This record gives sequence, structure tokens and C-alpha cells, in this order.
Amino acid sequence: MIVKLRAIDKTSGAKFGGATVRTRPREVQQFPRWRNVTAAQWRDWRWQLKNRISTPEELGELIPLTPEERSAAERSRTMFRLGITPHYATLIDPDDPDCPIRRQVVPREDELVIAPFEREDPLNEDGQSPVPGLTHRYPDRVLLLLTHECALYCRYCTRRRIVGDHQGNDPAQLAAAIEYIRGHPEIRDVLISGGDPLSVSDRRLEDVLRRLRAIDHVEIIRIGTRLPVVMPQRITRQLVAMLRRYHPLWLNTHFNHPFELAPVETRQAMERLADAGIPTGNQSVLLRGINDQPAVIKKLMHELVKVRCRPYYLYNCDLSQGLSHFRTSIDRGLEIMESLWGHTSGYAIPTFVVDAPGGGGKIPLLPQYIVSHHQGRLTLRNYRDHISTYWDGGANDLVTIQTPQPIGSGVRSSLEMVAKD
Ligand code: SF4
Repeated sequence: MIVKLRAIDKTSGAKFGGATVRTRPREVQQFPRWRNVTAAQWRDWRWQLKNRISTPEELGELIPLTPEERSAAERSRTMFRLGITPHYATLIDPDDPDCPIRRQVVPREDELVIAPFEREDPLNEDGQSPVPGLTHRYPDRVLLLLTHECALYCRYCTRRRIVGDHQGNDPAQLAAAIEYIRGHPEIRDVLISGGDPLSVSDRRLEDVLRRLRAIDHVEIIRIGTRLPVVMPQRITRQLVAMLRRYHPLWLNTHFNHPFELAPVETRQAMERLADAGIPTGNQSVLLRGINDQPAVIKKLMHELVKVRCRPYYLYNCDLSQGLSHFRTSIDRGLEIMESLWGHTSGYAIPTFVVDAPGGGGKIPLLPQYIVSHHQGRLTLRNYRDHISTYWDGGANDLVTIQTPQPIGSGVRSSLEMVAKD
């Protein structure tokens, strides 16, 4: 198979997968609105948050918008918030409307089109919510939504029905959610997500962590956040020192493209988490025209393991409203998975999943490696299409026949195992 990646920046490009992609963010001085910002301001996550691009007018100052982008930015105003951190803005190619970073954050007319099978809440998170702000879908774990706000708003967001809503979980709702967890001893794992739970202050986050840690049956706490990607300045030494007091604590982040790992601040943020003993994982979404090529995903996975982040899930896009232009086919996802299995280390391979509509949960999908399976004889193909036979079953299911070989034949014995019936 020939894989071609679009050349984005020929002057600062790097080769992988036989193609050239951009590797260097733009310099801050290239943005008139931030020309006078100090290094200390730029490193301050609160400055990053306060100076987000959040209106079509600001977006138009940042990059020359196409007529379609300009119109979509206006028309989507009331449907889903616009928000781009200054850090993430440096990754956008101003000259390429198809830049994979730009497409994740700049509205397009396509997102106003709703397909008949798309739903506001395709995963039925609200239906499986015994108390507001908490989803209890699987037996032993829950999803706790701490806030509805994010530092940056991804155009493909599956929770766009609530994300960006300033209200979020109020203290009374949060208390009720924590009480629910306390009252259900089967819950051993709490995933704090949102919105983005790291977009709140350390104090507010620590308050929740402390209350969860006080519940004996909560074995692990996980945080789902995109901030290492879109605002790595948030991963301060103080934050990490606070988080490590609540071990075992895991952190799951959300890189979709290898270029998102190019900035040195991003890699330092991931290293800082790993150095604090916080295991990090990554979930990516397959997005058409953004990362749906084997070489892009493989490069992304390699960049992740270099910063000690374990690729966790690769999602096919959910059936949320207005996402048809992002959605790839299942066959495409399987083709990408096939390009990974055997071709790179197992640590660099995520599980490809569909999150089942209606709240059925994540369903793993694998390329088909079983050629046939009959009477204990399992015929398999490997990543090079080499065929092997494996006898399926334990010793009780099989008869062993040993055939002695003449001494000096070079073969002492042959061992053949056949199925009983
Ligand atoms: S960070 Fe997550 S919750 Fe926030 S907009 Fe992006 S996908 Fe949605």
C-alpha cells in the first residue's frame, strides 16, 4: 500500500511514512495580537485561558479564513462554542485550510449538517445518569463530569450538547454525585472528565480528589483531559505535586495528530506527569482528512510512547450530531490497525473501538486474523499473511502421538497432535 501524507510546511518539514509534514510551531512573534507578550505570560496557563480565541472576529485576525470558514464560524455561534488557546494556535497552518490542526478547531459548514442517524446524546450518557453529572454504565466504574468547560473546543466533540455550557456541575450536584459513589461499593474506578477537569483550579480539583480518596472502595481515580495537548502550560509542578498525593491516579489524554506532540512544552508536560509516577494513556479519534492514514497514526503512536504515554483507545467517531464529515469507515480503521499489528511494538498499539450507540459501551474491533476454525484446527494468518496452524484446546482435548525416528536421521522424534474427534 502506498501512503501519501499531504505536505504542510516544506520549510520545516520532517519525513515519515514517505511524506513531509510540518514539525515546528509558528513563533509567537508572528501573531500581531501576542507580539508583546512576555515569556512568563506565555507560560502561565491562566494567561493562556484568558487569551483564547473565542469569536469569529478574533479567529479572522489569527488566520486568513476561507469564505466557508468565516460563514461557519458565524453560523455555529449559537450551536457550539469557539475556543482556541494561543498555544494550540501556533500549530495551525495559516495558509492551508486542510491543515489537520486547523480542521480540529476551526468551524466548517459541514458541522451544521445533521444526518438522520446522528443523535444529541448518542451514548445515552444522560439516560445512564442516576444523578446529574455522573454516568454509571459499566458495573465497577463511573464517569464523573466535574465541569462543562474546556480550554479549547474540538469541533468533533461528542459531548457538544453540554460542553461549553458555563453552568456545569454546581456544588450541590457534585456532592450528590460523590454521595452516589459512596453508596455503591461496587464502584472501584472513578473517571473524572468533563468538559476538561484540569480547566478548574488546583484547589477545586483537589477538593474532589480528597473526597473521592476518602471512600474506601474507590481503588483508582482517572482524569480525562486534553490540556497536555492544547495547553501544556497547565501541567505545572504544583499541579503534579498535588496529583501525586492521590495515587493510584491515572491520567488519560487525547492527542490526535503527531504534530500536536511537536512543541517542547508538550513533551515536557507529559514527562513531568510520568516522572511523578502518573501513568498516562492516550485516546485518539479517527478523523477523516486529519489522521485517517496508517503512517499518521503510526507516527502518533511512536511519538506517544517516546513520552511514556501508552496508546489506549482509537475511536471511530461517535454518532453525535454534525460529525458526518469527520467520520471514517470501520474498514478504514481496521486497515489502520492492520498497519500496526506486527509492524510495531505492542506498546504502540491502541485498541480500536466503537462506542456503541444507546450506551452499549466500548466494543473492540480487530482485523480478521482467523482464516478458519474447525475441529480444533485453527488456521491463522499473521501480519505478513503467513499462514500457521494452531491446535486449539488443552491436553484433555488432544491425543498425542509420538513417532520415533531412526538415530542419526537428524530428527530425534516428531510430535504430532491431533484432535480427538
Ligand atoms: S477537550 Fe474533550 S470535552 Fe472538550 S471539546 Fe474537546 S473533545 Fe469535547
